Amino acid sequence: MQTVEILRTLVGFPTISAQPNTDLITYCADLLRDAGAEVVIIRDPDQAKANLYATIGPKDRAGVLLSGHTDVVPVDGQNWTKPPFTLTEEDGKLFGRGTTDMKGFVASALSAALRASKLELETPLHLALSYDEEVGCLGVRSLIDMLAAAPFRPRFCIVGEPTQMMVGTGHKGKTACRLRCTGREGHSALAPMALNAIHLACDMISALRDIQSDISRTTLPDDAYDIAYSTLHVGRINGGGALNIVPNSAEFLFEIRNLPADDPQFILDRLHRACAPASGFPGGQYRNRDHRQLPSTGNGARC
Ligand SMILES: [Zn+2]
Repeated sequence: MQTVEILRTLVGFPTISAQPNTDLITYCADLLRDAGAEVVIIRDPDQAKANLYATIGPKDRAGVLLSGHTDVVPVDGQNWTKPPFTLTEEDGKLFGRGTTDMKGFVASALSAALRASKLELETPLHLALSYDEEVGCLGVRSLIDMLAAAPFRPRFCIVGEPTQMMVGTGHKGKTACRLRCTGREGHSALAPMALNAIHLACDMISALRDIQSDISRTTLPDDAYDIAYSTLHVGRINGGGALNIVPNSAEFLFEIRNLPADDPQFILDRLHRACAPASGFPGGQYRNRDHRQLPSTGNGARC
């Protein structure tokens, strides 16, 4: 089957991270099983989403893994000039949500697997398709656990993220954090008698930006990466309910993308020290929750 035809079908599944991906996985599993592949489906606890792991060729040795995620980012509020979930060909280009990130690669991997299934392979070819990558690489964890316990693990893995067709041999580490600021509620007419949690959050974000500025000025750059130093970024902030109430709670999500040479814990420790002034306010508190960490992998970049 032509890669473009597979891609057309994949784009037609609106697999935004919040939505189920099981129809897409069933389509891929049927394609692969019909070609003689061994297919393992790993469902999430709600049965709405699933990972897929397929093997073509011998089962008694390590192979080569092609890995991709099946979810895509939302399209709401964006000025799409073409239907996002219908593949459109124009001027030799293919348009649709996920054509680049990363259903294009998934379609290519499926097409390669179908061709490989007609050959006598000495080295097995594996496909790994995951869910919930765009919301923090959450879905792939059960697949990694399965591989960790498998008798034969792939010798190496090719991940088809968009890299402008350049080979990226490394990836910055990622630490995702949620920071909650707790203040003391009050009427806005008496604001100085209360403690504004949004103001605390702003102080913390300001501290975070100071740390970023310091890192960019003082650390040894690694030019293998597009951004040659470790970065901090606030991606979401929530707090407050009404203008005339001093809010007692605010939280924000931030992340650290660190170079292999930098320890994200060192950066977090600096942020924790910046929290210290909160103890000077009665009832003031910062709390760092849901701390998740993914390691960096060697040198190289553009993932
Ligand atoms: Zn991606």
